[in-house]
Amino acid sequence: MSGIPGKVHALSFDVEEHFQVSAFWSDERRNKWESYESRVERNVDKILALLSLHGIHATFFVLGWIALRHPNLVKAIAARGHEIASHGFGHEMITSQQPAQFREDVRKSKETIENITGTAIHGYRAPSFTITPQTRWALEVLVEEGFLYDSSIFPVQHDRYGMPGADPYCHRIETESGSLWEVPPSTLKVGPVRVPIAGGGYFRLYPYPVLRRLLSSAAADGHPLIMYFHPWEFDPDQPRMSGSMLSRFRHYLNLGKTEVRMRQLISDFRFATIREAVDAVGTVCGAHANPVGVIESCAGRCLAMERNNG
Ligand SMILES: [Zn+2]
Repeated sequence: MSGIPGKVHALSFDVEEHFQVSAFWSDERRNKWESYESRVERNVDKILALLSLHGIHATFFVLGWIALRHPNLVKAIAARGHEIASHGFGHEMITSQQPAQFREDVRKSKETIENITGTAIHGYRAPSFTITPQTRWALEVLVEEGFLYDSSIFPVQHDRYGMPGADPYCHRIETESGSLWEVPPSTLKVGPVRVPIAGGGYFRLYPYPVLRRLLSSAAADGHPLIMYFHPWEFDPDQPRMSGSMLSRFRHYLNLGKTEVRMRQLISDFRFATIREAVDAVGTVCGAHANPVGVIESCAGRCLAMERNNG
């Protein structure tokens, strides 16, 4: 066991198809979504089997577009005791949306998912982490739409996303409409630079022993690791798409290694849902350490707590 013995970290998955990623986004490709082969179910099944084998619960940020077409997949994830949260509806980056459009997108995703599970969802993660200095207004919309926490602010420098200098640990954010908890993906300060270590392409880029050392260093400061993955990362045989060399490198690098690395990761660190790993989020939802199935009564209690806490 690495890191702090017994410490629980957060494992999360952004549930989307391989053809929906921002790196390969184009209006032309967006119009063809319905015609591409769906691979999300088999990839999520792979993840669910792996998590069941190790007795781990995780947080699944599900895209509304996926939930609408694969309601039984959402039910299967929830039935296994995982936390369901929202990845928005149409996967358009917030940086290319106006506030009204964004509100419609998150509202539609929340309603779609809640209609399937019959349970209130409280977490949100933006497509490609696109809550940036330019789109901070999105946080206020999330509060107004009933979200209690967000996991979209990546405190790093990147060409598509990032808020360099943002608080890298779980913190409460005040907006004009109220507050919510921010749960940033894990990073590590190396010299003057904050390095992403939380998952995705970075997880596949670093050799595992290096990554393990970076994660142990980050965990040693007492904050839970917040890690993220995608179902398509467990699918080395997915059809290749055209795109820039950088995008293709980031997306296809070491896809064949994700599953074996994930096995190493979950045997080296203890993982749970975001609600379970981040005390503040668990508390605000009143569902700390509870499986999704009994969170139903959380909605009223959470709102009451929010009102009491201001
Ligand atoms: Zn995504």
